[in-house]
Amino acid sequence: MDKKTILVVDDEGDTRYLLKEFFTTAGFNVLLCENGTLAIPHISKADLFITDFNMPGGMNGAELTKITKREKPGMPVIIMTGAPLDVPVDHLANKVIEKPFKFEQLEEVIADLLKEEGGCCD
Ligand SMILES: [Mg+2]
Repeated sequence: MDKKTILVVDDEGDTRYLLKEFFTTAGFNVLLCENGTLAIPHISKADLFITDFNMPGGMNGAELTKITKREKPGMPVIIMTGAPLDVPVDHLANKVIEKPFKFEQLEEVIADLLKEEGGCCD
């Protein structure tokens, strides 16, 4: 089976590093970006998308999710945030996960989302 590609967007280098380790170990190709503007060109290459909510540079994770869902409607998107109440209620993400989280939680979320995606077709 082909490896799935995950796009990881977070302004904090430590978080990017840890998520890269985690997802590489879990068998994904990992693309890392530090803000939404840099991430947009990579959306089409990804099968799964996880973004921080609070990032400097004018685009938060909910705005980035909106763009992502427009470009690739079927791709599961996860927003991570230390301040879940700041995330607008009309966000389009499939899941909001509160920081800090355990990797086991993240594993469960990913497994659920990829299951929902349903054993399609490429
Ligand atoms: Mg941040």
